[in-house]
Amino acid sequence: MSFGKFGKVSYVSETKLQEFEKALEAGRIMGTKCKTCGKLYFPPRADCTCMKGDIEWVELKGNCRLLTYSTIYFAPASFRYEVPYILAVAQFEEGPTVLAPLNKDLKEDEIEIGMSLRLIPMELAGGRVIYELRKI
Ligand SMILES: [Zn+2]
Repeated sequence: MSFGKFGKVSYVSETKLQEFEKALEAGRIMGTKCKTCGKLYFPPRADCTCMKGDIEWVELKGNCRLLTYSTIYFAPASFRYEVPYILAVAQFEEGPTVLAPLNKDLKEDEIEIGMSLRLIPMELAGGRVIYELRKI
Protein backbone atom coordinates (compact mmCIF):
# COMPACT_ATOMS: atom_id res chain seq x y z
CA MET A 1 0.00 0.00 0.00
CA SER A 2 1.18 3.47 -0.83
CA PHE A 3 0.18 6.82 -2.29
CA GLY A 4 0.32 5.23 -5.73
CA LYS A 5 -3.45 5.33 -6.29
CA PHE A 6 -4.26 8.54 -4.38
CA GLY A 7 -5.58 11.46 -6.44
CA LYS A 8 -6.40 11.87 -10.09
CA VAL A 9 -2.75 12.08 -11.00
CA SER A 10 0.14 10.08 -9.63
CA TYR A 11 2.05 11.34 -6.64
CA VAL A 12 5.16 9.82 -5.16
CA SER A 13 4.02 6.27 -4.61
CA GLU A 14 6.09 5.21 -1.61
CA THR A 15 6.06 7.03 1.70
CA LYS A 16 5.98 6.27 5.37
CA LEU A 17 2.29 7.10 5.26
CA GLN A 18 0.93 4.17 3.30
CA GLU A 19 -1.85 3.60 5.86
CA PHE A 20 -3.51 6.80 4.59
CA GLU A 21 -4.44 5.34 1.21
CA LYS A 22 -5.42 1.99 2.70
CA ALA A 23 -7.80 3.77 5.09
CA LEU A 24 -9.34 5.89 2.30
CA GLU A 25 -10.05 2.73 0.35
CA ALA A 26 -11.91 1.49 3.43
CA GLY A 27 -13.83 4.79 3.66
CA ARG A 28 -11.89 6.15 6.63
CA ILE A 29 -10.16 9.52 7.05
CA MET A 30 -6.87 9.21 8.90
CA GLY A 31 -4.56 11.89 10.18
CA THR A 32 -1.44 11.68 12.29
CA LYS A 33 -0.84 12.98 15.78
CA CYS A 34 2.44 13.75 17.51
CA LYS A 35 2.72 11.77 20.75
CA THR A 36 5.00 14.44 22.25
CA CYS A 37 3.29 17.76 21.55
CA GLY A 38 -0.15 16.53 20.48
CA LYS A 39 -0.23 18.37 17.14
CA LEU A 40 -2.68 16.79 14.71
CA TYR A 41 -1.98 16.66 10.98
CA PHE A 42 -4.14 16.22 7.92
CA PRO A 43 -3.08 15.15 5.40
CA PRO A 44 -0.96 12.91 7.60
CA ARG A 45 2.70 13.71 8.14
CA ALA A 46 5.41 11.24 9.08
CA ASP A 47 7.25 13.77 11.24
CA CYS A 48 6.16 16.61 13.50
CA THR A 49 7.50 20.16 13.38
CA CYS A 50 8.66 19.73 17.01
CA MET A 51 11.07 17.03 15.74
CA LYS A 52 10.71 15.16 19.01
CA GLY A 53 7.67 12.99 18.83
CA ASP A 54 6.58 9.65 17.68
CA ILE A 55 3.67 9.88 15.32
CA GLU A 56 0.50 7.86 15.76
CA TRP A 57 -2.46 7.38 13.43
CA VAL A 58 -5.80 8.88 14.46
CA GLU A 59 -9.12 8.59 12.70
CA LEU A 60 -10.98 11.82 11.91
CA LYS A 61 -14.75 11.76 11.80
CA GLY A 62 -14.76 13.77 8.58
CA ASN A 63 -17.05 16.48 9.97
CA CYS A 64 -15.89 19.96 9.11
CA ARG A 65 -16.93 23.58 8.55
CA LEU A 66 -16.40 25.55 5.37
CA LEU A 67 -13.74 28.26 5.77
CA THR A 68 -13.49 29.50 2.18
CA TYR A 69 -13.85 28.37 -1.43
CA SER A 70 -13.13 29.36 -5.00
CA THR A 71 -14.68 28.34 -8.30
CA ILE A 72 -12.04 26.97 -10.65
CA TYR A 73 -12.52 27.78 -14.34
CA PHE A 74 -8.97 27.22 -15.55
CA ALA A 75 -7.50 24.06 -14.11
CA PRO A 76 -4.23 22.15 -14.39
CA ALA A 77 -4.16 19.76 -17.36
CA SER A 78 -5.14 16.69 -15.35
CA PHE A 79 -8.28 18.46 -14.04
CA ARG A 80 -9.31 20.23 -17.27
CA TYR A 81 -12.33 18.01 -17.87
CA GLU A 82 -13.69 18.85 -14.42
CA VAL A 83 -14.10 22.63 -14.84
CA PRO A 84 -15.87 24.50 -13.51
CA TYR A 85 -15.50 23.02 -10.03
CA ILE A 86 -15.36 24.46 -6.56
CA LEU A 87 -12.27 23.99 -4.45
CA ALA A 88 -12.81 24.55 -0.74
CA VAL A 89 -10.87 24.82 2.47
CA ALA A 90 -12.67 23.34 5.46
CA GLN A 91 -11.70 22.83 9.07
CA PHE A 92 -12.21 19.45 10.73
CA GLU A 93 -13.89 19.54 14.13
CA GLU A 94 -10.65 17.98 15.41
CA GLY A 95 -8.73 21.08 14.21
CA PRO A 96 -6.73 20.51 10.99
CA THR A 97 -7.84 21.99 7.68
CA VAL A 98 -8.40 20.21 4.39
CA LEU A 99 -8.29 21.42 0.79
CA ALA A 100 -10.74 19.45 -1.32
CA PRO A 101 -13.31 19.87 -4.10
CA LEU A 102 -16.95 20.38 -3.17
CA ASN A 103 -19.39 17.81 -4.47
CA LYS A 104 -20.80 19.01 -7.80
CA ASP A 105 -24.39 18.59 -6.61
CA LEU A 106 -23.88 21.56 -4.29
CA LYS A 107 -24.80 24.74 -6.15
CA GLU A 108 -22.88 27.94 -5.53
CA ASP A 109 -25.96 29.77 -4.14
CA GLU A 110 -26.34 27.03 -1.47
CA ILE A 111 -22.83 27.57 -0.18
CA GLU A 112 -22.34 29.47 3.07
CA ILE A 113 -19.13 30.08 4.96
CA GLY A 114 -19.32 28.08 8.18
CA MET A 115 -21.72 25.47 6.78
CA SER A 116 -21.33 21.87 7.92
CA LEU A 117 -19.61 19.55 5.48
CA ARG A 118 -18.24 16.04 5.58
CA LEU A 119 -15.12 14.78 3.84
CA ILE A 120 -16.03 11.63 1.92
CA PRO A 121 -13.46 9.22 0.43
CA MET A 122 -14.34 8.04 -3.07
CA GLU A 123 -12.95 5.36 -5.33
CA LEU A 124 -12.61 6.24 -9.01
CA ALA A 125 -12.54 3.97 -12.04
CA GLY A 126 -9.21 2.20 -12.12
CA GLY A 127 -9.05 1.97 -8.36
CA ARG A 128 -7.76 5.50 -7.67
CA VAL A 129 -8.96 7.07 -4.43
CA ILE A 130 -9.79 10.72 -3.79
CA TYR A 131 -12.02 12.62 -1.40
CA GLU A 132 -14.52 15.43 -1.69
CA LEU A 133 -16.54 17.66 0.62
CA ARG A 134 -20.29 17.12 0.78
CA LYS A 135 -23.08 19.00 2.52
CA ILE A 136 -24.51 17.17 5.55
ZN1 LIG B 1 5.27 17.35 17.96
